[in-house]
Amino acid sequence: MVREQIEARGIRDATTLRILREVPRHLFVDEALSNAAYGDHALPIGFEQTISQPYMVAFMTEQVALGPRERVLEVGTGSGYQTAVLARLARTVFTIERIPALARKTRERLTALGFENVFYRIGDGTLGWPSAAPFDAIVVTAGAPVTPRALASQLAVGGRLLVPVGERSQQVLRVLSRLENGAIEEESSIPCCFVPLIGQEGWGEGQA
Ligand code: SAH
Repeated sequence: MVREQIEARGIRDATTLRILREVPRHLFVDEALSNAAYGDHALPIGFEQTISQPYMVAFMTEQVALGPRERVLEVGTGSGYQTAVLARLARTVFTIERIPALARKTRERLTALGFENVFYRIGDGTLGWPSAAPFDAIVVTAGAPVTPRALASQLAVGGRLLVPVGERSQQVLRVLSRLENGAIEEESSIPCCFVPLIGQEGWGEGQA
């Protein structure tokens, strides 16, 4: 997986590559799908949600360039695969999931795998986690109609926010950075395809 899908597409950061080799992706999908776990695609995880494509996880991990003392907010816990990758790189991961049953299942999974530096919340991640802010990095793994302002406001100086922004089924990865003077710089990165971010600063529930 790492050689053919990730290195071959230009991911070079040694730490990202090592962690993608070490985190056992097949443990983040149902047993019936474990043969497909290392394929070049997203996979269903129930509740109409998906575990992201390996390349996308690697790309976002390399982009966000976490240091070992950093605190990161993840919006869209899902299967917990990206959470596990982030937890191997950062000091602490704060992760928010809106579907309670999925959040509970993933929390059990990550706990069983021995992850101790992850804090979990069930709720609307478009509003961030104000009591734990500011964050050195924020990674959103669902597609938003616009960049959620609450998340941008919870970035520390030097902090990076990655968020897919666009249509419901097709987005562009936006990268926001908070500069030394407090201003926010925002640029577009690669096209991507995430499930919708649903919430106050996301898509409406049941919205077409
Ligand atoms: N990184 C995850 C991606 C899962 S898909 C993985 O690879 O497994 C995106 C997840 O975001 C879904 O589980 C969905 O329920 C969740 N989500 C959507 N809107 C959300 C919101 N406003 N707050 C928190 N989670 C949200």
